[in-house]
This record gives sequence, structure tokens and C-alpha cells, in this order.
Amino acid sequence: MQSDAPVFIVESAHGVRLKLTDGRELIDGMSSWWSVIHGYNHPRMNAALENQVRKVSHVMFGGLSHEPAIELTRQLLAITPAGLDSIFYSDSGSVAVEVALKMAIQYWHARGRPERRKFISLRCGYHGDTFGAMSVSDPDTGMHSLFSDALAKNVFVDRPRCRFSEACSDADIAPLAQTLEQHAPHTAALVVEPIVQGAGGMWFYSAEYLQKARALCDRHDVLLILDEIATGFGRTGKLFACEHANVAPDMMCIGKALTGGYLTLAATLTSKAVSDTIDQGEPGVFMHGPTFMANPLACTAASTSIHLLLESPWRTNIRRIERGLQQGLAPCRASASVADVRVLGAIGVVEMKQAVDMHHITRAFVNAGVWVRPFGKLVYLMPSFIISDADLAALTGAVTSVIKDL
Ligand SMILES: *Cc1c(COP(=O)(O)O)cnc(C)c1O
Repeated sequence: MQSDAPVFIVESAHGVRLKLTDGRELIDGMSSWWSVIHGYNHPRMNAALENQVRKVSHVMFGGLSHEPAIELTRQLLAITPAGLDSIFYSDSGSVAVEVALKMAIQYWHARGRPERRKFISLRCGYHGDTFGAMSVSDPDTGMHSLFSDALAKNVFVDRPRCRFSEACSDADIAPLAQTLEQHAPHTAALVVEPIVQGAGGMWFYSAEYLQKARALCDRHDVLLILDEIATGFGRTGKLFACEHANVAPDMMCIGKALTGGYLTLAATLTSKAVSDTIDQGEPGVFMHGPTFMANPLACTAASTSIHLLLESPWRTNIRRIERGLQQGLAPCRASASVADVRVLGAIGVVEMKQAVDMHHITRAFVNAGVWVRPFGKLVYLMPSFIISDADLAALTGAVTSVIKDL
């Protein structure tokens, strides 16, 4: 948003390549913020959307429904963790989080416990940019310290120290355990990104931590909301990141890759216990209704994207990309300016010791023929699942050489 920031105009995009108006082509390392998992301009996606445009592009979702929404709901309930039984569609990830928070509050209201309206979340978490979502995102790394005074006051716990594939000791879980002990009587839900914290720190944490968090929520009768907006649809090597821990939430938010990056759509899934309690309480219906709820084009894109994903050898692809990222980014460890290199699934992160100069580094990447968009200390790659080994090597090679020259 800074006025002197370089902006590159994209004329078209195909597969993993972005074509700029000046004729240059860039290999995309970002999947347009986790979302374009099958690559740009996919013939099956295009055909499905063209077909749906000719039937109905939009119709209100109150009192009316349509085949794309029915089909998408059927697919999502089949692939999401057991115990999630109903789906509320909205327009963006932030709104899906707002919806989850509102549902949690309405749930406790219906149970006669309206004082349970606080939320607990993790530091370095990111859940979106609207007011409720900001109130559970890290105030510093969540990029909204400016609004702190205007936000609901929630409770934050330090991010897990135990890394992915490490055990979670009693000391690792103690901060969360103590916080729940103290705040549970006023807490509606614990809100976390499972396994991978995204935009708030690109941190991968222990599956055992998530298991212990689930057990603590059960013990204290606190709802568990998992934000799978960044991690959902295969990115971490499982269809949903919570599968690494075999943990099922009471509510789950999805978005980003849901439509393969074609259109904006998100959803909040809930257990039957949550949806039934809300329906049976006052006023008998969940109080939220987006105008463009379950837009038929967006549902068609989502449904087609899920078909494409499940038909593809996505597990093999993610393992291949994981190996490519590990090998390709390993040389960054030798750089004095690098603090840490970590890879999980199709996510590769180089954490620098100091924040990078965004404008300088963006230009350096474009000159190297790749699209990589770091923030703060984090230079990271999350390519489309269809990327070839050669293009992946070009991406990691560019990251390695640009970092070396900083
Ligand atoms: C991107 C993101 C959001 C917000 O989604 P938007 O579609 O940008 O509103 C919420 N949570 C997580 C984990 C995200 O990565």
C-alpha cells in the first residue's frame, strides 16, 4: 500500500507462470497466497465455470438452493474430519472466522452460559483482518497493532515451542493448560491454526501439542475452533492439517485453496452438537446472512477443484515438492543472515535474522524470473501442487542466490 512500492501488471497466467504486460514471465512461488493449487488457467476449472455461467451465476441462498452448493456440501462433509456435520458458507476467510466466533458465542448463549464469550488463541497466529478475526490474531505479527484499543480483549498464549515432529512436553503445554485453568469459565473457544501458523509467523508445531490442546478443551468444556484456511486441501501433506494429530475440532474454517484460487469462497463447519444447540436456543437461527452466500460460481469452482485434487496424485506431489524444497533451500543455512530454514509439505520457509527490504527483494526476485513475496523476516515458498521439479529448482535457486546477495 506504500505509494513507492513496485507493482507488476499481470496480463495472463498459465500453469505456474505469470505473464507480465512487459512480456516477462515469472515462475509463481506463492500460489497467490496459498490458493491456486492446480495452477492458473486450468482447462477443467475454466470449462466448469463457463458451463455454470450459462445456467445461473448467482441466486439468493435464503429459501433457495442449487446443485453446486448441494454437491459441494456433499463433498466437503465426505473429506473433512468426522464429527463436522453442517456447513455455513461465506465470502472470505476472515468472515468464516467471524462466523465461527459468533457461533461459539451463540452456542454458549443457548446453553445458558452467556458469560462464556472470550476467546483464547496463540501468539503469532493469524486469522484475518476483520474485527473479530483481528481480536484473536497476534497483535504484533498480525499487522493490526493500530486497532488494538478498538478490539475485543481476548487472551493470548505463547506459540508452541515444540516443532513439528517433536514431542510436546509438559512444559511445552503448560502455558495453554494454565490459561485454560484460569480463563475457562469465561471462554467460549480456543482458536488455533492447526500445525502450521501462517501469515503470523510461518511456524510449524508439534502434532502432540494439538492433541493436548484438544484434551484440555474437552476437560474444560471449551470449544475448539481450527482455522484450516491456509492449511486445508493438502498443503501440509494431509488433506487437513489436523489429520497430522488425528484431532477433530468442534468448528473448522476453510477458504483460500477451497476454490483452487478461482473465486472467493470460505466456509465454517460445525459439529451437530454446536449447530443443534444454536438451532434450539433463542432466536432459533444463527444470526448471520451474507448476500453472496454459497454463490453458484464459487461453489462450482470449489467442487471442481476438490474433484481435481482427489483425482490427482496429490500426496506424491506434496512429498516430491517437500523434498525439492528441503534440498533446494538447504544451502540458505550457510548464509550468515539466515536464522532458520524449515519445510513442511509444500511450504518452505527461510527465516532471516532481520526484516528484509520488501521493495529491494521483490525486484531482485522479479529480475531472477520468479514471484516470491516475503514479509518481515520471512522469505517463503508455497508453490502450486503441479509445479515441475525444474521450476521448483528455479524457485529455490532464486531464493538461495537472492538471499546470499543481500
Ligand atoms: C488468509 C487467512 C485468513 C483470512 O482469509 P481472507 O480470505 O484473507 O479473509 C484467516 N486465517 C488464516 C489462517 C489465513 O491464512
